Amino acid sequence: MRNSRGPLVLVDFDGTITQNDVGALLFDTFSKKESKKIVSLWLKGEISSKECLAKECELIKITKSELKKFALSQKIDEKFGDFVDLCKREKLKLVILSDGLDFYIKLILEKFGLEKLPFYSNILTFEGKKLKPEFPYFDRGCGNCGNCKRYHLKNLRGRKQKVVYIGDGLSDKCVAREADFVFAKNDLRKFCMSENIKHYPFRNFGDVIRIFQKSVLNLSPLVPLPTNVEKGR
Ligand SMILES: [Mg+2]
Ligand SMILES: [Zn+2]
Repeated sequence: MRNSRGPLVLVDFDGTITQNDVGALLFDTFSKKESKKIVSLWLKGEISSKECLAKECELIKITKSELKKFALSQKIDEKFGDFVDLCKREKLKLVILSDGLDFYIKLILEKFGLEKLPFYSNILTFEGKKLKPEFPYFDRGCGNCGNCKRYHLKNLRGRKQKVVYIGDGLSDKCVAREADFVFAKNDLRKFCMSENIKHYPFRNFGDVIRIFQKSVLNLSPLVPLPTNVEKGR
């Protein structure tokens, strides 16, 4: 059931919940960095994120068990579990939105006992050692994202419900414009600064928890932080 009083909490997966950008690292590692050329086309806006992911999948050959081993070697933000507990206590719905692939997301959530968290992402199927991505939400999105997070925000938000979005990258661009409270690090932070989108900079979920308790849970307007916590790349 939706909690119409408290905000809906949407969280990116790669590089936000996980310490690494698991998708990027996967393709970098198994394509021996060939994927960087494809990603640079996406960053320049020459191909969509859907095309980018589809092309990256074509680049590599990997078995299911190799990919499983890779996924299970990944770590999550040390305070993310505490943040999940905070949301539970406050009866806030937390949903993970990812333009990555369900296969590794599911494994990593399970590994850390977080398999009950709902998530929406692209889907990975295997044909032997070939990766075949599927994009079940593409048609409902902006036409650029494989899985446009803005669509899910609109679909999940209750009437007049505020939305919190926490993310780190360029696949969060569409949703960052719509959310009421944006927590941003790395590329998303740069994007928010260049587009004048109000946001809380953060390094990790320890920061998110502190800011949440101070501001978001009181639904107070976005206020700049007293100190600049962002020291990332
Ligand atoms: Mg990310
Ligand atoms: Zn989009």
